[in-house]
Amino acid sequence: MVIVMTPAAGDTEISTVIAHIEAHGGQAFVSKGVARTIVGVVGSPDVLETLDASGLAGVDHTVRITAPYKLVSAENHTKRTTVRVGGVPIGPDTFTLIAGPCAVETAEQTMESARMAQRAGATLLRGGAYKPRTSPYAFQGLGIAALRILADVREETGLPIVTEVLDTADVDVVAEYADMLQIGTRNMQNFGLLQAVGSVGKPVMLKRGLTATYEEWLMAAEYVAQRGNLDIVLCERGIRTFETATRNTLDVSAVPMVHALSHLPIVVDPSHSAGKRDLVVPLTRAAIAVGADAVMVDVHADPTAALCDGPQALYGEELDELARACRELPPMLGRRV
Ligand code: PEP
Ligand code: MN
Repeated sequence: MVIVMTPAAGDTEISTVIAHIEAHGGQAFVSKGVARTIVGVVGSPDVLETLDASGLAGVDHTVRITAPYKLVSAENHTKRTTVRVGGVPIGPDTFTLIAGPCAVETAEQTMESARMAQRAGATLLRGGAYKPRTSPYAFQGLGIAALRILADVREETGLPIVTEVLDTADVDVVAEYADMLQIGTRNMQNFGLLQAVGSVGKPVMLKRGLTATYEEWLMAAEYVAQRGNLDIVLCERGIRTFETATRNTLDVSAVPMVHALSHLPIVVDPSHSAGKRDLVVPLTRAAIAVGADAVMVDVHADPTAALCDGPQALYGEELDELARACRELPPMLGRRV
C-alpha cells in the first residue's frame, strides 16, 4: 500500500502518518520526489486491511499496489515523474540529450567532449570516473581526479554531471561532485550499493542489468526508492542475446513497457547497446520514436585514441546527424527539446 501525500503536506503531517502506520504494526518508508512525498506501507494483509489513513491531515489518497515494486509502480502515480538533474528535466514533456566521453581521461579531452556534447544540444554531461571494466588490466578510470575534472568542466560549461559509482565506499565522494549518480549494468543488483545511493539525496540513473527482466530492474529501482529517493531515471542500454554482431541488443520495448509499469522516466543508451558508432543515430531515432524521455551517447574528439569504448564514440558527421535527430524528432511527438 502507498499513501500519497498532498503537495502541501509537511514534516508534521508525514510524522503523523508514520506514527499511524506503526501503531497498526506496519512499517513506513518515506520517499520524497520533487512534487510530493509518498509513504510506502509494508505489513501483513491484516495490517493493511485495518489501516485507514484517508482521514489524516495531508493525505491525498491511498493506493493498493498489486505489483511487487510498490513505490516505483505506475499504480500509485497516474502522472509520470519528471526528475530534475541540476535543474535539467527528464520526463514526459521534454526530451533530454545526455552526452560525453565514456571515461574522463584528461581535462582537455573532457572539455573537448563537453563542447561537442553541447554543440549537439546536450544539456547533461556524462563521463566515467570509476570504470567497470571486464579486464582488470584495462583503464579503470581516474577516480577522484576525474570527479574534479568533471566539476571544473561543469563550472565552465554549465552542464550538470552524470557519473557512475561502482562501490559503496565511493558513494559519498561521488555524490559530492555528481548531479546524478549512475548505477551501471553490472551493479544493477548490488543491493547494498542501491541502498547507499538511495540515501544520499541525489538523482540516480539505474541501468538495466545485462540479463535483467523488467520486474528485476524495477525491483532494483525499488531498493533506491525504499531508502527515500524517488528521483530515479531508468536506462535501457541493451541486453545480452545470442546476437554477436552488435555489442548488445537494444530492447526498444523497454520504453513503452517501463512507461506502462512505472511512473519513472526512461533513458536509452544506444552507444552501449550497439557498441558501434554507425548504429548510434538509427537507434537514437528508434528510441525517440518509442517515447524515450532522454538519450545518452558517448562522444570523443579522437575515438581512435579513446581509453574506453572508442568504437562507439560519435564525432564529426554522425554527431551532426544525432543533433538533427534530437532537434527535429521529439517535437513531432509532442516533446519540448
Ligand atoms: C557506461 O555508461 O559508462 C557504462 C559502463 O555502461 P553500462 O553499465 O551500461 O555498461
Ligand atoms: Mn562505456
